[in-house]
Amino acid sequence: MEPIRYVSTRGNQPPLTFKDAVMTGLARDGGLLIPDRIPDISAQLRGWADLDYPDLAFEIIRLFVDDIPPARLRELINAAYATFDRPEVTPLRRVGPVHILELFHGPTLAFKDIALQFLGRLFAEILEERDGRLNILAATSGDTGSAAICGVRGQRRIHIFVMHPHGRVSALQERQMTSVLDDNVFNLAVKGSFDDCQLIMKTLFNDLAFRDAHALGAVNSVNWARVLSQIVYYFYAAFRVMAQTRSAQVQFAVPTGNFGDILAGWYAKRMGLPIRRLILATNENDILARFFNTGVYATGRVVPTVNPSMDIQVASNFERWLYYKVGENPTEVARLMTTFALQGSMSIPCDEHGHVDLEIVAGTSDTRRTLATIKRYHEKHSYLLDPHTAAGVFVAEQYNELDEPLICLATAHPAKFPEAIEDATGEDLAHHPTLEALKDAPTRCEVIENHAGAVKDFLAARAI
Ligand SMILES: *Cc1c(COP(=O)(O)O)cnc(C)c1O
Repeated sequence: MEPIRYVSTRGNQPPLTFKDAVMTGLARDGGLLIPDRIPDISAQLRGWADLDYPDLAFEIIRLFVDDIPPARLRELINAAYATFDRPEVTPLRRVGPVHILELFHGPTLAFKDIALQFLGRLFAEILEERDGRLNILAATSGDTGSAAICGVRGQRRIHIFVMHPHGRVSALQERQMTSVLDDNVFNLAVKGSFDDCQLIMKTLFNDLAFRDAHALGAVNSVNWARVLSQIVYYFYAAFRVMAQTRSAQVQFAVPTGNFGDILAGWYAKRMGLPIRRLILATNENDILARFFNTGVYATGRVVPTVNPSMDIQVASNFERWLYYKVGENPTEVARLMTTFALQGSMSIPCDEHGHVDLEIVAGTSDTRRTLATIKRYHEKHSYLLDPHTAAGVFVAEQYNELDEPLICLATAHPAKFPEAIEDATGEDLAHHPTLEALKDAPTRCEVIENHAGAVKDFLAARAI
């Protein structure tokens, strides 16, 4: 077979190997990197059904990686998932009418650990081989920062600098970041908003001389390795639920922000996993739900919600799906994305029912419905949903007309969002020993002026 290579959704990037795609992140023409073909594994399905999580991950990931020796790839995968507190890595629970796929058993209790525990080890591996170094700069309003820190802490060729808005992330999320005391981890509390942090990040990345001088890198959700590692749990869950229920197909409901999680499910389906359809859930920031129900992709203002990791205005991974939707035509992708950048909106044709796609249906849950869903599942099924998961469950319930079993992705542990749980149930129910232990943990964090120059000086003095 020809080796797999990575190309841009906008067509103007010479093909890259897997390792180069991981180190590059975003394509140079502004597009996203995608594999030049999607392997069809329909013939292997039966043989994979009983594999445990790391073995299954190895079989799937190796299809997209031909420049890391298989034995080494297996070690990286085993090490990444050994950090999870369950041998199943992503256990399934039957809860009332749905199957809950718990993706929050990693070190920071959110599904981002699945990708970032793997990506951190990949970075280290590639840097070791190339005698390189990397200074990761990130801006976070919550989950991503702690998962990224946890993915690279202690790595000797990597320094990570994570900016969060001073006093504006939850105390719990702040502690999850600032209690990591490894020498290569730098937390910066910027005296400004999350948007200010993002602006500083853009300014530093656009300063090409600075960026090159300090081997600046990013860990955002457009990195192909993040999507790739997430494909695995769709297979893992579908195999188990199909066996349990004797169904030939399943459906997945996915609480969505940047479209990275659900995109992995779309790839799984395209590879031959029998997924009847994907159900996309948004909160009040509903650009994607509006798109899948009208064909119009138009930004709005971001409003803060009870499920902050879904608060997005532009879904960074959406372009990958769009590429396939328009018939793998990079010129058309570039045209649509340019229109969107200039006008804040673009559209693609729908069928007579107003649907853009038959594989993805979409809906919205607002704060009231999300909290009511948490309360109902707690009372009826004695199960605590986090507010992101609850939004997915609510939308899934609106699409209950098909017989295929429904698997709802649980993207965070409820203890990460104790206020929402208390608002929903009236009780202080959400706890986790990892988070309890943080209460007395020592922390390290630098408060810094809301100014790109200040962050630049800090980074230059401490870069590896
Ligand atoms: C990041 C995140 C999401 C959204 O995932 P995307 O891949 O951005 O769509 C949902 N829930 C939680 C808890 C998250 O951290």
